[in-house]
Amino acid sequence: MGRFPHVPKEAVIKEDLLRGGLAFDDSALTDNEDGDVKPKSYFIFSFDHRTLPELGSAALRRPPEEIVLTGGPYELRRTVVSVRVNPGSPYRVKTDDDGRMRLYLDDRPIADVGLPPMPDYYRHTLPNGKSVMEVAPTIQWGYLIYLTAYRLCQYFGATEECQYCDINHNYRQHKAAGRPYTAVKPTDEILEALAIIDKYDTARTSKAYTLTGGSITRKVDGLAEADFYGRYAQAIEERFPGRWIGKVVAQALPRADVQRFKDYGIQIYHPNYEVWDKKLFELHCPGKERYVGREEWHRRILDSAEVFGPRNVIPNFVAGIEMAAPHGFTSVDEAIDSTAEGLQYFMSRGITPRFTTWCPEPTTPLGKSNPQGAPLEYHVRLLQTYRAVMEANGLTSPPGYGPPGPGNAVFSVSSFMDSLPAEPEKATSAG
Ligand code: SF4
Repeated sequence: MGRFPHVPKEAVIKEDLLRGGLAFDDSALTDNEDGDVKPKSYFIFSFDHRTLPELGSAALRRPPEEIVLTGGPYELRRTVVSVRVNPGSPYRVKTDDDGRMRLYLDDRPIADVGLPPMPDYYRHTLPNGKSVMEVAPTIQWGYLIYLTAYRLCQYFGATEECQYCDINHNYRQHKAAGRPYTAVKPTDEILEALAIIDKYDTARTSKAYTLTGGSITRKVDGLAEADFYGRYAQAIEERFPGRWIGKVVAQALPRADVQRFKDYGIQIYHPNYEVWDKKLFELHCPGKERYVGREEWHRRILDSAEVFGPRNVIPNFVAGIEMAAPHGFTSVDEAIDSTAEGLQYFMSRGITPRFTTWCPEPTTPLGKSNPQGAPLEYHVRLLQTYRAVMEANGLTSPPGYGPPGPGNAVFSVSSFMDSLPAEPEKATSAG
């Protein structure tokens, strides 16, 4: 915080929690779907630093989906942080002697902790008994409905799976634990869950949905990727026209497929480029390299900007894997320079990437070789760099992420929105 006074202190703590995880005392765990606190839904990846069987009590009583930090010795403004469990973390959430929930760092209290209340819509089930949390969980303090329609990825095994991704392992561990975890979500179940959310989210906190899942290189339900994910968008927009901002995370697809997403009613497209450096993309994303290739991936991102408009193409990268051993950069300077080059490439064309903070999950190749993740200095300097490149290109925070600024942001899996200046949220070009 002292070295980077222009980065909000909230963002520094949030990045450290996201990159290294946090531990929970039993008193801070939820009573799963029967309590008053919203439990962690495991909406796509595990985002934990241990496998489920190694989480102790947190494997039986889920941790909360997110926490919100305020106050403490740093007088933190409201900061929403996605929960990544690490029983070995120096950060721990527990209740103090007065019964207040607080975040401790090495036994020193550093913030008050608020837990997300159980939303009304989680208290209702679909006609077939499935829970809304399983079919249509919400994150970002209720802003985003996260629809992982396909919980597996057809990039499979060591030669195809992204080296930082545990989607396939996470599916297997939830099935092994006997938890409901549907591989392919039927369209009518998603519509039923959304109807429950629409009915009970009377404050209209939910503003967007993301359709996503693993890459489809062959077919699922007889459909290739654009039609598989697109059919959900089509059904949602027919049933609830314009109720939420529709987003899709998919491969960088050919222009005709991207146009179909748009025609189905999607407003924001996330063709994630994951890491900028050429060698690291090839090594860390072997499936993407094999099926599409880095140059073609980038070309398709630019093409898709002609379909959606550059503001509504928001490719993600996984911040931190630039520094993952054995192939990553060994100095923060080099890693930041490379990442900045990628940001400039897209931002100079009006496209605003965003990033999630890498969680080194233990079953992934990069997580195994880098259990500590990337250095905090990298993450803090990235926040600085991201803002600088954005401002140099005359851009502002991307649409569909809620309000920017410390104290305002709800985006929970990186602090890029916490570190941008506060401003009213802008509508997408499609509304
Ligand atoms: S494309 Fe890569 S990051 Fe995405 S689900 Fe498949 S393996 Fe994971």
